[in-house]
Order: sequence, then structure tokens, then C-alpha cells
Amino acid sequence: MMVSESIASLRGHFTENSGKKRGFIPTMGALHDGHMSLVEQARRHGADYLIASIFVNPTQFAPHEDFSKYPRSLEADLAKLAAAGVHEVFVPQAHDIYRDGFATEVTIRGLSEQLCGPFRPGHFAGVATVVLKLFTLVKPHVAVFGEKDFQQLQIIRRMVSDLELGIEIIGVPTLRESSGLAQSSRNRYLVENERAAAAQIYATLLATRQDLLQLPTGTDSVEKIGEILNQGKAKLTAAGFMKIDYLAWVWNDSLLPVTAKPQKTQATRLAVAAFLGHIRLIDNIAV
Ligand code: AMP
Repeated sequence: MMVSESIASLRGHFTENSGKKRGFIPTMGALHDGHMSLVEQARRHGADYLIASIFVNPTQFAPHEDFSKYPRSLEADLAKLAAAGVHEVFVPQAHDIYRDGFATEVTIRGLSEQLCGPFRPGHFAGVATVVLKLFTLVKPHVAVFGEKDFQQLQIIRRMVSDLELGIEIIGVPTLRESSGLAQSSRNRYLVENERAAAAQIYATLLATRQDLLQLPTGTDSVEKIGEILNQGKAKLTAAGFMKIDYLAWVWNDSLLPVTAKPQKTQATRLAVAAFLGHIRLIDNIAV
């Protein structure tokens, strides 16, 4: 497995694998089985040259967020990627990605303003900008993202479609622990009793979905939906979540709130963001 620590090195390897189908798995490292399932999906979609990146992107963290404390485990990450058959890993430095005077920002309007948007100002512009730059450098045919970050996935799909980047975007179902807790790099900060509480986030999503599915179709049920979502939030509070940014039922395409139960609930998603102590957890399921 080749490790490229600079843009120059990445470019140097490019000609050696031209003709191959390039599958790209962008990550921030601290890899877990969820990340490895993305590698597997890239392969299943026919990629025969697998490139992962590990880059904790400073511009997607707000000043009060956990950039400096974000878990970093490069040696272990490289061992996992090599064992999974990844061909190349791009591990750039921030000053290589953001040269002096870097002034470009990519904004995906609308989608970036929903769900996490108001709570994480600048986050999705940071994500979109770095992903576009990584796409430009890595030149993948296929790129793989987790449904765990559903808003991010939809934003990347929109960007690829709007800018006609010609990259196939694959969304991969969330890999969970046996408790139902979505695997996440930040889970390693959870102490034991928080882990038990964290599992309630998935249990609450499932129970809330069940309640939503029992609503009559079509009728204007915005108040009923609100009540069900409030009950879900109360469950999270009872489980020990101190701050709930949102529990929302949204359309997949626009991420706007569902205001009446549709015929096809598969086109919608139930999404949540809530804090256990200082740790912000997000999760979502199809409805
Ligand atoms: P991150 O390193 O957290 O930025 O995540 C890198 C990629 O892995 C993103 O596309 C995430 O959506 C995806 N991912 C993170 N956790 C999971 C999970 N539990 N299951 C599937 N994909 C995941």
C-alpha cells in the first residue's frame, strides 16, 4: 500500500494506475468497521484501485468544536487499510490542502441549512470544499460515503450533480454495534454508562418511526407529527441526553420537514442530533 503525504506524491502515482477504476473513500481517520464497510462497497462497485484519504479537515470544525481533540490513530488506521486491500492512502497536511491565500468556498444552498446546518455554522461549506478538492486531486470514478452522515451524503450528491463531476456516489448503510449504537470515531470518548445511554438514540429512532408509520396517510398531520417527535425527544432526555439539537422527519431530497404522512415513506428519513455530556451524536434511519 502506498502512502502519499503530499499532493505532489499523489500526482506522481497517478500515471501508474491509469486505466483502472478508481474508488475513493474519504475519511478523517480513527477508523472503525463502518469505514471498512465503505472500502468493501467501493470494491463491490467495481473499483480495482482503492484510494482512501485520512484528513482531519480544520475548516469543517467551528471554533468551539473538537478539532484539536478529534481522535487520531494513524499507525492503526494504515494497518487496517492495508489489511483491507486498499492500494493507496492520501494523508495530506493542512498547509498542502490550504496553501497561503486559499480563498475558495463551496456552498450547497438549501440542503446545508437544514438539520445540522443551524447548529454547525460553516460545517458543510468546509466539507464540500475539501471533498471537491479531494475529488479534483484523486480523480475517482466512484466515491463512497456513509448514510450515517446522511445530510453530508445528500450534499455531496447535489454538488456532484450540479457541477457534473461525473463521479458515481455510493451511500452505504450505517454499521452499528450490537446495542444499535452507530459506529463512530467519537464513540471512543463515551464512558460505560454513556454507552448504554447512547444506544437509546437508535431505540428512540425505531420507536418514533413506528409511531409515525401508524399515522393515517395524506391528512395534514403536522401537529400529530410534532407530538410524536416531542415524545421521542422526551425519551432521549429521560435516557440522559442533555441537549437535543433536533429530532426531525425530513424528505430525503430536500431535507425539509415532512408535514403530512406520504404514500411512500421510503423517500423520507428520521434524523437526530443530541449531546451526551460534551459528545454530540448523530444518527438517522429510513422511514
Ligand atoms: P469520518 O471519518 O467520520 O469523516 O467518516 C468517513 C466516512 O465514513 C463518511 O462517509 C461517514 O459517513 C462514514 N461512516 C462513519 N461512520 C459510519 C458507520 N457507522 N457506518 C457506515 N459509514 C460510516
